[in-house]
Amino acid sequence: MLLQRSRHLSTAFSAARRPLISLARRHASSGGASSDSGAAVQRLGLPDSSSKRILLHSCCAPCSGAMVQEMVEAGHDISIFFYNPNIHPKREYEIRKEENKRYAADLGIPFVDADYDTEEWYRRARGMEFDPERGGRCSMCFDMRMERTALHAYEHGFDCFTTTNATSRWKDQQQVNKSGLKAAARYDFTPYYWVYDWQTDAMTRRKYEINAGMRFYKQEYCGCSFSLRDNNLYRKQHGQPPVRIGGEEAGVGSRYYVDPEADAAEESQDEVDAFFASAVAEIPFDSAKVLQGRQRSDGADAANEKTNNW
Ligand code: SF4
Repeated sequence: MLLQRSRHLSTAFSAARRPLISLARRHASSGGASSDSGAAVQRLGLPDSSSKRILLHSCCAPCSGAMVQEMVEAGHDISIFFYNPNIHPKREYEIRKEENKRYAADLGIPFVDADYDTEEWYRRARGMEFDPERGGRCSMCFDMRMERTALHAYEHGFDCFTTTNATSRWKDQQQVNKSGLKAAARYDFTPYYWVYDWQTDAMTRRKYEINAGMRFYKQEYCGCSFSLRDNNLYRKQHGQPPVRIGGEEAGVGSRYYVDPEADAAEESQDEVDAFFASAVAEIPFDSAKVLQGRQRSDGADAANEKTNNW
C-alpha cells in the first residue's frame, strides 16, 4: 500500500511516516522490464502476447492505478479483487474500498468486493503482533490475501492473478511474489501468478500522476492495527500528530494525492533504501510497555478512530 513517507521532502512529513517497529522493510526492485527514468512507460509483457483474463488483487486505489491502466492498454481483460481483512479500523477499510471502487467504475472494470474476515486475519497474526513490517506477519498477510485471490481466480476461470502489493517499493517485492507463487502452486499454476517488476521509476511516476489526477485519499499507514500502532508510536515520540482516519485533513501531510513529483521522489529507491538502513537505530524503546492496557475495540464503537487509533 502506498504510504505517506518521506525523509527529506518535509521534515514533519517524514517523521510522521516512520513506524517504530519497522526494522527490516523494503528492498530494491528486481528483474523485469526496465530501470527507466525517462517519460516513456514500457508496455507490459505476459508469457505470451495474447489477451489474458487477469484477476488483480488490489490493496487500495493508489497502488492499483498504474497497474490497471497498463493492463487495460495492453488489451487484457481484468477484474479488481478487493480482499483486505488486514485493514483496520473498518472506517479506513471502507474508505480504501470506496476509492478503489470509484477507480474501477471510472474505467468500467469489474470490481469484486470480497470478505472482510478480520477474525481469521487476527487468528493468523497471533504471536506476530510485534513483528516488523516485512517480517513474518507481513508474509502471513500476503499469504492469506493471495490464497483467497488464487481461489477466486481458479473458481472463475482467470488465466492468472497478481497483486498491487508488488507495486510499492515500500514492500518487499520478493516477499510478495513468494506468497503469490505459493498460492498459485495450490492449483498447479492454473491460474498462474504473474511475476513482473512493477517498481520501475516510470511505473512509480505514472502511479502518482494517476493518483493526483484521481485525487485519491492518501492513507497514512500500511493497513493493519499493528502498523497503525507503530506509526502512531513513532509520531508520539517525535511530537507529531497521530494518523487521522478519514476527514479532510491528514494527521501529517496532505489528505489527497496532489503532487506527483513529490510523491514519486518520496518513493525513490534511494529514499526507501536510506529509510531501511536507518530504521533499526530508531527503535529505542520497548513498544510492548507503551501498549500496556490498550485494547482494540470490536464493539459498536469499532469505527471510531478515537477508540481504535492506537
Ligand atoms: S504491516 Fe500489517 S497490513 Fe501491512 S503487510 Fe504487514 S501485516 Fe499486512
